[in-house]
Amino acid sequence: MSMYQMETKCIQSGWKPKKGEPRALPIIQSTTFQYENSDQMGRLFDLEDTGYFYTRLQNPTNDYVAQKICDLEGGYAAMLTSSGQAANFYAVFNICEAGDHMVCSSTIYGGTFNLFGVTLKKLGIDVTFVDPDASSEEIKKACKPNTKCIFGETIANPSMVVLDIEKFADIAHEAGVPLIIDNTFATPINCRPFEWGADIITHSTTKYMDGHAVSVGGCIVDSGNFDWNAYGDKFKGLTRPDSSYHGVTYTAKFGKGAYITKATVQLMRDLGSIPSPQNAFLLNIGLETLHLRMERHCENAVKAAAYLEEHEKVAWVSYPGLKSSKYYELGQKYMPKGSCGVIAFGLKGGRRVSVSFMDHLEMTSIVTHVADVKTSVLHPASHTHRQLTDEQLVEAGVAPDLIRLSVGIENINDIIADLENALKTV
Ligand SMILES: *Cc1c(COP(=O)(O)O)cnc(C)c1O
Repeated sequence: MSMYQMETKCIQSGWKPKKGEPRALPIIQSTTFQYENSDQMGRLFDLEDTGYFYTRLQNPTNDYVAQKICDLEGGYAAMLTSSGQAANFYAVFNICEAGDHMVCSSTIYGGTFNLFGVTLKKLGIDVTFVDPDASSEEIKKACKPNTKCIFGETIANPSMVVLDIEKFADIAHEAGVPLIIDNTFATPINCRPFEWGADIITHSTTKYMDGHAVSVGGCIVDSGNFDWNAYGDKFKGLTRPDSSYHGVTYTAKFGKGAYITKATVQLMRDLGSIPSPQNAFLLNIGLETLHLRMERHCENAVKAAAYLEEHEKVAWVSYPGLKSSKYYELGQKYMPKGSCGVIAFGLKGGRRVSVSFMDHLEMTSIVTHVADVKTSVLHPASHTHRQLTDEQLVEAGVAPDLIRLSVGIENINDIIADLENALKTV
């Protein structure tokens, strides 16, 4: 980990050219890598030497970008994935198998809710969703002997619930399992979950990290702090020989790098959700301005949230930066510099009025996407969370009238004027 400040890491971490090499991160657009003799290549397959041989497992461009995100989070090792969905799937599947169980905050992104609640169940991995605001005692009750991890989002998309990371880390560690935190909305600029006890961090880099809505991607970062060997019987995949990889024992051979090495040489090898080097290059450009953009996103969102809160047609606003927010205190604790640019709110008159309001916005676009430079809106109940029942919607913290406003970095007066004009029509 470099000792630079966050702003410097955004720019300087990752690719560090030597004499005569390109200053910009090179796009190594090659599926494969050449060696001088067969023995050299054999040693790579035996994990005796490090090096590249096939981009499905690893690619230098991707790795330099993963290294930058690792540095920003203060982690030990990281890998890129082709999407945030792949990152969350791999993060869990790397330590859970059929017969295992996980505990998860109920207020998480709809796609992740479905991945865990439906798809992982089909693979024999059971999940218990818990109310993130419940007491430690209550959440502990959800842990079973076969529980292998606990999962939550720093700021839940789209309910804007702020997770008490320390509370969840304590529960996880008491149960002898790692805490996995999806830090997509806060980004390491505003919150570094490892500093609060999280063990593994995931990202949909598609959001603020890319920041321009040009490339789908994900990342997994391992703190290297979880002691897999202390619970060796629970995490056999890491602490016992892997018959699918020449009998290697990941913890014995790779120490703190065990988790990411296994995810790379086993999950990437078999499932192959690797990003293209071109996309990693675009992500890296996004990361170079992440610190500047997050600051402006937050500054604009605080003003937009305050404006909405004062408006007579607005029924409620949920934004951790508002003093009136139930999550203001937690927000101040974990994200004193600001939370993110996303605001959830509802209009008086409910679902129908909320949808009509969105249709009357001019500059603000209706898109599935969130967390990029352009201001955008979404009605989760009609769009991203459409597959959830009303009961699941409530459980996920998504009111049927909830509008998700992703405040961009345009001039705030133009953003508010657009909201104002649309509000006049409803
Ligand atoms: C978007 C999102 C995901 C899924 O990421 P993709 O890159 O779209 O696959 C996961 N978690 C959170 C919090 C998200 O916002």
